[in-house]
Amino acid sequence: MSVDPSEFYTPKVIDAQLTGMIKTVGENKYSARLKVPAGILTAGLLESLARLSRAYGRGEVYLTARLGVEIPGISGDRFPEISRALADAGVSLAGCGPRMRTTVACKGTVCPHGNLDTFQLAWEIERRFNDGAVLPHKFKVAVAGCASTCSKPQLNDVGLVGVAEPAVRAEACTGCSVCVEACHLDAVRIVDGKAVIDRAGCVACGDCAKACPLAAMDTPRTGLHLFAGGRWGRERQVGIRIAEFLAGEEALDAVGRIKAWYRDNGARKERLGQTVLRAGVGRFQAAVLGGLPREKWTRITPEAEAGFRVMR
Ligand code: SF4
Ligand code: SF4
Ligand code: SF4
Repeated sequence: MSVDPSEFYTPKVIDAQLTGMIKTVGENKYSARLKVPAGILTAGLLESLARLSRAYGRGEVYLTARLGVEIPGISGDRFPEISRALADAGVSLAGCGPRMRTTVACKGTVCPHGNLDTFQLAWEIERRFNDGAVLPHKFKVAVAGCASTCSKPQLNDVGLVGVAEPAVRAEACTGCSVCVEACHLDAVRIVDGKAVIDRAGCVACGDCAKACPLAAMDTPRTGLHLFAGGRWGRERQVGIRIAEFLAGEEALDAVGRIKAWYRDNGARKERLGQTVLRAGVGRFQAAVLGGLPREKWTRITPEAEAGFRVMR
């Protein structure tokens, strides 16, 4: 989002929040919330933030639950100045309120369990879709590198999970059991001296294939599982999986379609999960996955649909 300093000077707290300045409790000061896609900060940016927090705040920064950074203790009359200084340092203010929030990613790019470059995907989502436009309510996206889902993609409006489905090359397998030990879900067994995968119990984390010392497992199906409609807070809803094994471009296209569908169909103050419940999961799935091959659509079972509900 490009920064227009003239936007920030306003006596109305709510307007300030929309632009990333958040009123703090117990003092007539604000925190500047910064956009930190995927939680990556260079050493140079950290130095700039330290300098700016001393110059405009009280020499502290806070880390938010979504990997963001806030500089607290800023006077309202210094909004234009600090917003210019932040832009010069190469960082934008992160809008709050009813709009897309900064995309979160786990460190799948460097994690030994990661099945994709989570940082790159999160940045691409930000670049293409985080335009600051007003939506019915907040809209959160999270990317995870594997089925461990450390970034909680199922509890975001849109969640993407990197997956790698294993297949055993029987001729190369010695039955050593390293893969059996690697699987946390007991989905690999040794049968007649060879590894066998229980498809029903496998979540395509890919850990067994990564652990095999003889490269006797391939991962012929890789990609991204797509979840939608999750949220956490006063009310909770676990996102429902609507597509699987998507290629990167397919997943990016789906994120854009979901955001547009939500903009056009969501009622004010309604999160995506509520809008999907109102419209029906099947109609939503058809609207946002229209161009994708049918085999990539997740079959929505009655059990999955029943579990997609609002909890308090
Ligand atoms: S979700 Fe997987 S890839 Fe990402 S940090 Fe957790 S274990 Fe690593
Ligand atoms: S780790 Fe590899 S070689 Fe060993 S049992 Fe598993 S697939 Fe076979
Ligand atoms: S991919 Fe993961 S869940 Fe599936 S068998 Fe391998 S280790 Fe187990």
